[in-house]
Amino acid sequence: MTLFAKFDGLAQAIDQLRADGGRNPFGVVIERPVSSTVGVIEGRETLLFGTNNYLGLSQYAPSIEAAAAAARSMGVGTTGSRIANGTFGLHRELEQRIAAFFRRRDAMVFSTGYQANLGTISTLAGKDDYLLLDADSHASIYDGSRLGYAQVVRFRHNDPDDLHKRLRRLDGTPGAKLVVVEGIYSMMGDIAPMAEFAAVKRETGAWLLADEAHSVGVIGEHGRGVAERDGVEADIDFVVGTFSKSLGTVGGYCVSDHPEMDLLRLCSRPYMFTASLPPEIIAATMAALVELEHRPELRTALMGNAQRLHSGLVRAGLTTGPAVSPVVAVVLDDVAQAVAYWNRLLDLGVYVNLSLPPATPNQNPLLRSSVMATHTPAQIDTAVEAFAQAARDVGVLPA
Ligand code: PMP
Repeated sequence: MTLFAKFDGLAQAIDQLRADGGRNPFGVVIERPVSSTVGVIEGRETLLFGTNNYLGLSQYAPSIEAAAAAARSMGVGTTGSRIANGTFGLHRELEQRIAAFFRRRDAMVFSTGYQANLGTISTLAGKDDYLLLDADSHASIYDGSRLGYAQVVRFRHNDPDDLHKRLRRLDGTPGAKLVVVEGIYSMMGDIAPMAEFAAVKRETGAWLLADEAHSVGVIGEHGRGVAERDGVEADIDFVVGTFSKSLGTVGGYCVSDHPEMDLLRLCSRPYMFTASLPPEIIAATMAALVELEHRPELRTALMGNAQRLHSGLVRAGLTTGPAVSPVVAVVLDDVAQAVAYWNRLLDLGVYVNLSLPPATPNQNPLLRSSVMATHTPAQIDTAVEAFAQAARDVGVLPA
């Protein structure tokens, strides 16, 4: 028996996806970014509509300069974990800046957003505790539940009544109850009814963690996410986020007002047993944070662009999610058709993400776009036209 026998089904599925000479949708190479909105793919300049680079800050000149200066003065790596040789003054400074941005007492910075969820959730919810997870939770949230051995109760996606019912059923059981929701969901771009979740939390005495990976820098007057927009930040015990989307770099964090937060640093395996962020990334992230804080017009532009893409696709006759947010998904029924559609769109010079079941809500294949503040109206209109053209070419819309 080979170790790889269990992947036979996967190999067949990939072959099937590539039938008719199509690409491997999970093997796209961006040979070179030209700007935040254009990259070279297959030797051609291609419009980027699938990068989560919401404010375009991966290409922000002051971040680039700050990274170069930090690398020159401090080197390119820490070669160690946060609890050994991997905490520089810069890590502390970044944590203070993140805590101040969220107006929280404490921030813990992790090497990725994935690890921030993994390290926070697995440490907070142990084997005697209950984790109440939205059914559409990100993989990092599910993986955190496994690493901590918590008892997992799933509730219906974005359904505070279902959460309430399930918490009531746990009345009288020992163990703390930690509810985890996301601000904006990464596949469909739908937004959590955060005020209602906060009300359930208050009523039941549960703890509440909000993963605002896709909403920080995007939503809220100061860009602090859906909880800020809905005026319920005081009810969120823990906010988890990432530097890899609106801030354009890499890394993750958890912020909280709970005074015991510092103890997590000595219990959280994904924090302790991996190398810390390198200095150049921290320097770039701090430069991007200044831009995020001082340019609220970026969020206005982003939302305007989201609206333009969403309404353009709807006008073209395509089915999208209901919410207007920077994640805009075209919802399809048939996987083979979705794959053909995605290939055709790339032929026409527009890169989006192909998301397939079982990773998608309701088992629908999706063409998932993420919009940026830096897209021009003309780029969005070009993308809408390409979406419509490709849809006609592959039979999603009548020719
Ligand atoms: N949470 C959510 C909701 C996400 O969508 C992602 C990334 N797609 C993460 C966490 C992990 O973040 P990162 O990619 O920065 O590790």
